[in-house]
Amino acid sequence: MNSPSNKEKLDFLFSQIKSCQRCPLSASRSTLVFGDGNPDSRIVFAGEAPGKEEDLQGRPFVGRSGQLLSEMILDVFRLQRKDYYITNILKCRPTINQEMIKDRPPAPEEIASCMPILMEQLKIVKPDVIVAIGSSSTKALLNTNEGITTLRGKWSVFKDIPLLPTFHPSYVLRNGGKNSPQYAMMIADLKKARERLL
Ligand code: SF4
Repeated sequence: MNSPSNKEKLDFLFSQIKSCQRCPLSASRSTLVFGDGNPDSRIVFAGEAPGKEEDLQGRPFVGRSGQLLSEMILDVFRLQRKDYYITNILKCRPTINQEMIKDRPPAPEEIASCMPILMEQLKIVKPDVIVAIGSSSTKALLNTNEGITTLRGKWSVFKDIPLLPTFHPSYVLRNGGKNSPQYAMMIADLKKARERLL
């Protein structure tokens, strides 16, 4: 009998956690946003948490900042969404209240509850490189309080996998988008990650 493919393993994992109630965000989410893309990818992009659009669609990085990130990845890696694996450290949308009007950063206890799911995803995909997208995912994955402006573009290691932190595309958008210095810095970080895959 053939051993299960990565896709089958991820599908099984999703079937196990799709009704997860390990933290209070289960009560307010519309959809658990598991992850998307190539189960055999050599690179995994790990963001912070779903936002409004992601919560509604059940897919990570589909809002405005997600579109910018997709464009940047296409630009630098020549990869389409189907070619790489993308997820978040938190699978449900954190908001300031139950009305779900405004997003907030993940709380430490939510990250602690959710991180085992990401760990399982990484065990299955076994990427050569992780790109941590934004401050919250970088801090959670590297267990540090250092800011993203200090850590971005510098290689670290997470569970023996080389990890490169970079900005969140929403931060780039807030700073002026494609004409901002942050955009150029993020492109430079992504190029560094690309070099590691050569
Ligand atoms: S955020 Fe993670 S731990 Fe919390 S309910 Fe959603 S899937 Fe479960």
